[in-house]
Amino acid sequence: MVAKEISLPGKLQEKLDRFQDEFWVPKERLDKIIAHFISELDRGLRDGTDPSGIPMNVAWVMEYPDGSETGDFLALDLGGTNMRVVMVHLLGNHKFTTSQHKYRLPNHIRTTRNRDDLFVFMANCLDKFVKETNPDGVPAGKIFPLGFTFSYPVTQSRIDKGILQRWTKGFDIPGVEGEDAADLMNKEIARQKLPIKIVSLINDTSGTLVASRYTDPLTEMGCIFGTGVNGAYYDRVENITKINGQLEDDIPQKSKMLINCEYGSFDNGHKVLPRTKFDIEIDDESPRPGQQAFEKMTSGYYLGELMRKAMLEGYDEGHLFIDLAKDSEGAKNLHTAYILDTSFLSTLESDETADLSDTEKEFTEKLSIATTLEERYFSKKLASFIGTRAARLSICGISAVCKKMDYKHCHIAADGSVFMKYPYFPERAAQALSDVWGYEGIKMEDHPIQIVRAEDGSGVGAAVIAALSAKRVTKGLS
Ligand code: BGC
Ligand code: MG
Repeated sequence: MVAKEISLPGKLQEKLDRFQDEFWVPKERLDKIIAHFISELDRGLRDGTDPSGIPMNVAWVMEYPDGSETGDFLALDLGGTNMRVVMVHLLGNHKFTTSQHKYRLPNHIRTTRNRDDLFVFMANCLDKFVKETNPDGVPAGKIFPLGFTFSYPVTQSRIDKGILQRWTKGFDIPGVEGEDAADLMNKEIARQKLPIKIVSLINDTSGTLVASRYTDPLTEMGCIFGTGVNGAYYDRVENITKINGQLEDDIPQKSKMLINCEYGSFDNGHKVLPRTKFDIEIDDESPRPGQQAFEKMTSGYYLGELMRKAMLEGYDEGHLFIDLAKDSEGAKNLHTAYILDTSFLSTLESDETADLSDTEKEFTEKLSIATTLEERYFSKKLASFIGTRAARLSICGISAVCKKMDYKHCHIAADGSVFMKYPYFPERAAQALSDVWGYEGIKMEDHPIQIVRAEDGSGVGAAVIAALSAKRVTKGLS
């Protein structure tokens, strides 16, 4: 969206055209991906254990909120980047208030060798928050019910347990996979004698769906486009054949069950996604090759690295940064894996200055590379190809769920840094939906299937789910 088109030297223009082709996903390809996606969603409902497929994790949330839920709940959100503690007051009548505190997750914790570091850190944050919000002390005997948003794939046999299947989003802490994250957390809470008890363990997408549904009854899906990508929706119990025999006899087959798809792992078998050489390298070089194939092409965790690899190729082929000496600081940076995050692309894409001076500054600050206007223009365009591909692929999960469930008019509640902050992402995703669903000529705000900004899923959503599970227990359906 550069104000002015700039003409590039022949070779550089050719390279840019090649990148445009490589990263463009035409409608026909989207259709093909969506068709495969639908069959993979179904397969996961029969059996989600094949590592090449989608887990379709059963979340044990069996009711829709109707906005009347009330109560006070604590929520703890362990995301990819931050940790949040939220106090949520559900007021009923679709209304709520919250107060919260964000804690930066110390970097070393993501890959610490000692799992206690993580759980002690989280419990310490809870402790601090409860003390700060109850300056006169917590009344004797008071226990805060806690909704724990743990946004990683877990197997649940009930709402307050979750056995970690595997880490995603660059987390790698031994001793947690195969363990119940709620149990580990409860043990630390007990050790620190905190007045807190976990009542539900949920995924951020489930929270997003339920929080948005609390305020907007048109919501049929919750999605995250952030450090990781994923989606949740309700399916009918009769379709989820893998839980045959696990349900009480009195639950009707038409009942709904919330499903956390974990579709970041879509196409781990590499059948339909248009992977470039860079995608293949990112996967091969990652700590978990062969996992999270869809996430690796669309999430904020990888966009900066894709950009770096593409620019490095341009440099190695002698088209880009031609004056940059091989032994320079800049060249070294260009060879440094994960030196760039998504904010680099965001800055380039938002740069509306005539001489692309924001881009120039970003290149010197993040990479110590001095650029020509042509190089900046090239890079900005490249960022737009990468960002557009992510947005277009992102709607494949949404479209698959809507087609499978026959949803033609609904709201898809979306959250995550990429959806909320990446320039033009919502517009590009809407354009891709329009291509697939044939909305040509209809204004974006009138599209029948619309991706909308979600309510706070891991805060409000966690609280609503905690309230719903409390209701179910009193109905004897725990
Ligand atoms: C996780 C999901 C999560 C998503 C968005 C993925 O890496 O596996 O559980 O919902 O990221 O945070
Ligand atoms: Mg989050």
